[in-house]
Amino acid sequence: MNLYTCDHCKYTFRYPLKTLACPDCGKEAVRPATEKETADYYAMQRILQEEIRLGLYAAG
Ligand SMILES: [Zn+2]
Repeated sequence: MNLYTCDHCKYTFRYPLKTLACPDCGKEAVRPATEKETADYYAMQRILQEEIRLGLYAAG
């Protein structure tokens, strides 16, 4: 799975294929994520998982 970052809105996302357009803002300003952006992405995923586990988000 590849990680990409949008240079326009700085959104980092996972995408299985090579992509050009950002799913957030739609700009074709996407490039492979740097090592730091990759680390930040996984750190954020861990926080989100923990918040879901604690029930901070309503299920469904
Ligand atoms: Zn974007």
